Amino acid sequence: MSKWTAAHIPDQTGRTFVVTGANSGLGLETARRLAEHGAHVIMTARDPEKGRAAAASLPGSVEVRILDLADLESVSRFAAGVDHADVLVNNAGVMMTPKRTTAQGFELQLGTNHLGHFALTALLYPVLRAGSAPRIVTVSSTLHRRGRIDFDDLQAARSYSPFAAYSQSKFANVLFGLELDRRLRAAGSPAISVLAHPGYTATNLQTSGPTGLLNLSGRIGNLLMAQHVTKGALDQLCAATAPAVQGGEFYGPDGRGENRGHPKLVKPVASATDPDTARRLWEVSEKLTGLSFAP
Ligand code: NAP
Repeated sequence: MSKWTAAHIPDQTGRTFVVTGANSGLGLETARRLAEHGAHVIMTARDPEKGRAAAASLPGSVEVRILDLADLESVSRFAAGVDHADVLVNNAGVMMTPKRTTAQGFELQLGTNHLGHFALTALLYPVLRAGSAPRIVTVSSTLHRRGRIDFDDLQAARSYSPFAAYSQSKFANVLFGLELDRRLRAAGSPAISVLAHPGYTATNLQTSGPTGLLNLSGRIGNLLMAQHVTKGALDQLCAATAPAVQGGEFYGPDGRGENRGHPKLVKPVASATDPDTARRLWEVSEKLTGLSFAP
């Protein structure tokens, strides 16, 4: 695929997308491009005011619904209100926060970035399955390469590092996206699971979560190194809309270190492709969220 741009997005008239974390950064840009191309977009926000302001800035057919991925009750309420969707973009995220927990007591980054999206996907799956050419796109990061799942201390109760917890959550995104692909294929589902990452893109992510030196380096990095969000959102837009995309693929930028550029097929780190680790994470995620998810 040569230099995929937003101009390659096919007409999405008649298709409904759920984009999590759509009031800011990559989610907002994704919602904008989808709406520009005729889609109906259910933009999720955890703050109604931020959601309304974001939606007001967009063209086309968009609506805002409240979703806090750090609270499984909010995830259930949101999912119960969605009766039609073709594509789910698991985009929302937090990065390198100080140690915090979700409403159910999970470490915040794993709880928001992975467990919240695991629960959301499980609950929305019956609706998505009934959609047309359904897709589930999960947004990871190059930092998944630095991640591992610490099954002995999953919630970082014994030792917490903002960096390790973020990397673990983005590693979990890749394990989940690939395991979902395997399970969808085994079940003969019409839905596909695709992964994307945006390289290094200037958004609120680098400054809203980290404190101290991490926050300062995020601000400097955004000014000096990061790509613009219009470019950064292309990978997930490609994963969500390009007709040639297959389940189990991973899209990221084609520049050096996959930090910037146009979408291309990229490879996950080998450890994130291990089916045993993925199965174990799936089972733990079912137990923690109290949801059984069998596509
Ligand atoms: P962003 O501008 O900070 O946007 C993050 C979005 O997630 C916001 O809408 C935020 O809502 C929402 N969010 C945070 N916690 C949430 C929760 N508990 N429930 C529901 N929504 C929540 O950051 P971004 O860069 O666009 O991030 C989007 C995704 O890209 C994330 O998954 C991130 O890990 C991934 N990513 C980004 C980069 C990058 O360089 N920017 C690199 C690799 C991966 P609020 O506005 O209310 O906080």
